[in-house]
Amino acid sequence: MDKEQVRKLMEENPTVRALAEEREILWLNSKLASFETARGGLPLSMADVDDAEARLARFAPFIMKKFPETAEAGGIIESELREAAAMKERLNEKYGAKIEGRLFVKMDGDLPIAGSIKARGGIYEVLKHTEELALEHGLLREGDSYEKLASDEARKFFSQYTMQVGSTGNLGLSIGIMSAAVGYNAVVHMSADARAWKKALLRSHGVKVIEYDTDYSEAVKQGRAQSDADPKSYFVDDENSKNLFLGYAVAAKRLVPQLKALGVAPDAEHPLFVYLPCGVGGAPGGVAFGLKQMFGDAVHCFFIEPTQAPCMVLGMASGLHNGIAVKDVGLTGLTHADGLAVGRASGFVGRVMEPLLSGGFTLRDAKLYEYMRDLLETENAFIEPGSCAAFEGPALLGRSEEWREYIEAHGLAEKMKNAAHIAWATGGRLVPEEIRKEYIATRLA
Ligand SMILES: *Cc1c(COP(=O)(O)O)cnc(C)c1O
Repeated sequence: MDKEQVRKLMEENPTVRALAEEREILWLNSKLASFETARGGLPLSMADVDDAEARLARFAPFIMKKFPETAEAGGIIESELREAAAMKERLNEKYGAKIEGRLFVKMDGDLPIAGSIKARGGIYEVLKHTEELALEHGLLREGDSYEKLASDEARKFFSQYTMQVGSTGNLGLSIGIMSAAVGYNAVVHMSADARAWKKALLRSHGVKVIEYDTDYSEAVKQGRAQSDADPKSYFVDDENSKNLFLGYAVAAKRLVPQLKALGVAPDAEHPLFVYLPCGVGGAPGGVAFGLKQMFGDAVHCFFIEPTQAPCMVLGMASGLHNGIAVKDVGLTGLTHADGLAVGRASGFVGRVMEPLLSGGFTLRDAKLYEYMRDLLETENAFIEPGSCAAFEGPALLGRSEEWREYIEAHGLAEKMKNAAHIAWATGGRLVPEEIRKEYIATRLA
């Protein structure tokens, strides 16, 4: 965008102005529609989510064989939904949150294989492509157990092919580790901000890591160009992939029985609020899309982003989606929140979310570490700082004018005592011990 366009946008749009001023905000989405109205216009449906879930089930015997850590769960990659009553008390006492109802944490940071929410979408996309190749080349026939794909013969077959992705870290881990397990040549194009331990971990799995001294967009661009030049190479496109999105959406179906087991059944009288840390948008978008399919208007989905990288709120509030980047309004895109350091949102996700998303929060990095220590102290659970963005939603409940406005507008005031809140903890398990110590000691102004 040129300077004149930006100046005009700022003048007309107070949300964009607030983002440019690095303010912490709750932006309410004025385009939110009832699910009944929204459903017909969506490019994907429940049938697509069912299809993805069934594909993951077909691969379960293969996953179990390659990753014994998943054996107990029968090769299904899933995380715990945990009630966090002590964290609720902490948020109420320390931040004046006034949370009624119950607070839960979805422990995606503990997901096997990749240790982050990327274990959903990233792994799903690798497996989907693997199934396509295997069926096309007669390695699999309908009705076969996918355990066949764990054989030496299958491995040899897949070694002719290359899987590539551009990543700031966690997506690279999920794609790289699963690709290497199938037998592909795996290449991860890493941006400058990617952590050294993630690169080392990938290399230990035999993944080729190419480092760039540029940002995420440039790593993606380079990766795509190299992949396009090779007919036997497949590129995972984080900015536009429907496969990634559907892999994430499966989480919603599996959440239903988890909620039920904890005595939660969302409906008009029992609202469900879900808070999802957002980078390019695929992971939170996919999960929110799935949740809307399951619970319709009973679920209220909010994204949370760092004040320096609020690409999704910027794209949605301006209506420009991927036509605007945080640098256009003078922000750096730099943040301590691994996985959320994205300057330009997915245009695909932004448009899908237009009638579905309730709103978006932005928060300063300093709070990530505060919430992280709060969770560690109250629940003895470690999640990485970026994931802690999820607590900004419930923490502000009692204090934000916009929150009050939302609750009023949706007639929820009397129902908040029956509400369930889920903070979606997106990463953490693979963070090495010495880095955890560093995080725990970090205090920002
Ligand atoms: C990737 C990631 C997110 C956000 O996912 P997007 O698809 O980029 O929006 C959130 N938390 C963690 C830990 C991540 O790795």
